[in-house]
Amino acid sequence: MGKGRFGDFGGQYIPEILMSELIGLEEAYEKAKQDKHFQEELKGLLNSYAGRPSRLYYAAKMTQDLGGAKVYLKREDLNHTGSHKINNVLGQCLLAKRRGKTRVIAETGAGQHGVATATAAALMGLECEVFMGREDTIRQALNVYRMELLGARVHAVTSGTQTLKDAVNEAMREWAGCMADTHYVLGSVMGPHPFPIMVRDFQAVISAEAREQILESEGRLPAAVVACVGGGSNAAGMFHHFIADEDVRLIGCEAAGLGLDTEHHAATVAAGRIGVFHGMKSLFCQDADGQIAPVYSISAGLDYPGIGPEHAYLHKTGRASYVPVTDEEAVNAFEYLAQTEGIICAIESAHAVAHVMQLAPRLGCEESVIVCLSGRGDKDVAAIARYQGRKIDE
Ligand SMILES: *Cc1c(COP(=O)(O)O)cnc(C)c1O
Repeated sequence: MGKGRFGDFGGQYIPEILMSELIGLEEAYEKAKQDKHFQEELKGLLNSYAGRPSRLYYAAKMTQDLGGAKVYLKREDLNHTGSHKINNVLGQCLLAKRRGKTRVIAETGAGQHGVATATAAALMGLECEVFMGREDTIRQALNVYRMELLGARVHAVTSGTQTLKDAVNEAMREWAGCMADTHYVLGSVMGPHPFPIMVRDFQAVISAEAREQILESEGRLPAAVVACVGGGSNAAGMFHHFIADEDVRLIGCEAAGLGLDTEHHAATVAAGRIGVFHGMKSLFCQDADGQIAPVYSISAGLDYPGIGPEHAYLHKTGRASYVPVTDEEAVNAFEYLAQTEGIICAIESAHAVAHVMQLAPRLGCEESVIVCLSGRGDKDVAAIARYQGRKIDE
């Protein structure tokens, strides 16, 4: 495999002007990876600031109700700022500081990655500017204010569909003009090399912990690990240390929105084709002319028309499988988890829970499955109420 390639996927499809910055980033990252001080500093922050290690919780009531494999939840929702995003953001901001950068920029969809980046920037004394589609700034007004509270500036992006993909475009454009003092904190396992590898490595702490935790509590590996997939960072982190364990099934859950038979979904693996976008070769939802298609999901975090190149490769080689989960299935799972375990998870994570509700009963009770609970659901409560036809004053 070539540098930054996963089989045929990945690479660096970028304007020439960014090349030297990406080479510098890659070199600095490779050095930091080997550097004990960097790793210790990061681990210290992950533990004392973000609250790691996150719990691997045995969902006894859900297991009993579903009647099959034991269900374990990897509780990334308990991290500071409420999702797995903080793992990656702390790593990248620390690296940016090391490289002498004084400013970070980020894209954000629902605002989770923007809030995490603004948080790390405040902590480390970096200036922070976040690009967010105008549509999303309206849907997620509270997160805009959160970022501002944390000292960040939020730019509403008015191009295209005014959503996540346009925010990435704008952040990349901005970066090309300010690389000297600015690092671009990309929020998922996507974009040009080295981002897919670097973000995956920062998120791999999820499976490093989970693998140890499940061996401790079950004495054997799980039958499957399951995670939702937007760009694919929580899934990549959840899969990584299980990839060599060939008997562990790796399952990614993508957003099927209103259904694969409609145009309103974001199921990249099920319905996408190979293309080049946002600096990488991967799978993308495209129209008949090969233009990036508008995508839809009830979950803003899964509302991205592509998937990270490592996932495209894991799909192609058959090592991981990807299943579509509709809005309706996700909302059911959201309510089910709240009522059986007393946990209100992110609507993104509920896509993974929905699949486990089908999978666990088909497995023996001596087996186990781990679901990555990528985030908490406070941000989604109003939207779910709306979905169910309830009007709530915020
Ligand atoms: C951002 C987000 C996702 C989707 O991003 P990935 O890179 O696919 O992990 C999933 N869950 C939560 C809670 C998020 O905030």
